[in-house]
Amino acid sequence: MGSISKVINVEQIREDFPILKRKFYGKPLIYFDNAATSQKPKQVIEAIRKYYEEQNANIHRGIYALSEEATQLYEDSKKKVARFINARRWEEIIYTRNTTESINLIAYTWGWKNVSKGDNIVLTVMEHHSNLVPWQLLAQEKKVELRFVDINDEGLLNINQAEKLIDDHTKLVSITHVSNVLGTINPVKEIGKIAHEKGALFLVDGAQSTPHMPVDVRDIDADFFAFSGHKMLGPMGIGVLYGKREILERIGPFLGGGDMIKSCSLSGCSWNDLPWKFEAGTSNVEGAVGLSAAIDYLNSIGMESIREHEEELTRYALDRMSEIEDIKIYGPKNTKIRGGVISFNLGNIHPHDLASILDAEGIAIRAGHHCAQPLMTRLGVTATARASFYIYNDKNEIDVFIDVLNKIKRRLKL
Ligand code: PLP
Repeated sequence: MGSISKVINVEQIREDFPILKRKFYGKPLIYFDNAATSQKPKQVIEAIRKYYEEQNANIHRGIYALSEEATQLYEDSKKKVARFINARRWEEIIYTRNTTESINLIAYTWGWKNVSKGDNIVLTVMEHHSNLVPWQLLAQEKKVELRFVDINDEGLLNINQAEKLIDDHTKLVSITHVSNVLGTINPVKEIGKIAHEKGALFLVDGAQSTPHMPVDVRDIDADFFAFSGHKMLGPMGIGVLYGKREILERIGPFLGGGDMIKSCSLSGCSWNDLPWKFEAGTSNVEGAVGLSAAIDYLNSIGMESIREHEEELTRYALDRMSEIEDIKIYGPKNTKIRGGVISFNLGNIHPHDLASILDAEGIAIRAGHHCAQPLMTRLGVTATARASFYIYNDKNEIDVFIDVLNKIKRRLKL
């Protein structure tokens, strides 16, 4: 039986997550699909309830106290996000729907204006489709070359190759901070430096890092940084794009409509200041309020402690899983450079079958290509099973998971 966490009080944290009380097929829910989305603590649910019961109004438009209060909540939420990722100014925080929209925003604004034939964009083979397809769409239209940094057998990026691929014609380097399949924590600071030395911009997909470890966009020196609220205890439908102010000021708007203009006539409009230039239409105030409460919750535990807890869980899970014969685990063994995501295959059982059998025991994992089909191809598989951890998971749950994997192996006589 695994011992309790040394760094955070999981038992107490679990009390804050009503959904964890649910049972499936008579078994307590073991939620190991945190890379897809996280569960929500009652503090976040309560903040959203309070918003609708007491504070709801459209922002920026009303000259009345309620609207001013809602506007304040929205702007305070941005200030909190800015502090959370150490942005210099809250005006550098643009709210989107999710990481996908944040990356598309840059592709369709900066990208469509600033790249042309002869330029290249450097990505990696481990990107989620949301950091691949927007660049493919741009590349098709603008005849720009896409280049991909490969991985080694352990799932680590080939930095020597990156140094060669990034050249004087590179306009952008866009990579994931943490792989949603391999768990690899990429050396983003080092890669950003290479990009900047060649005069390229640097975008980091922080969807899998921001919820799980301290993030400092200034230390990374990212020009753009994208993440999703729903993976870090916040509600769905709110995402963040951070961009350096001097760059965001140079690039044009994304969607046109209300709130993003300073003045407008039939012959044309002038654009609003940051961040409103990039936020057309009624904002997701509920999402901002929920994300703000989520950040408070994460801060109350401490991002260092969260990272330490997940590293401990991952090390424990990797050790125990590697005792199972015929298991293939993808990604680095060293948990110092690995987040709490473990992709694996067991014998020749299809990952979907594996996920269904685990589901019957109350264990929720993900199976499939994880929106990273090129990486599946690179690994020589069509799919993997994936368990991913968060603050409310503990070693006892991993023990149950391992017991079920062993049971499956025995039952199927692998
Ligand atoms: N990037 C990575 C690394 C992800 O893991 C995900 C989602 O799983 C995304 C981007 C897309 O996130 P969203 O669907 O919230 O836009």
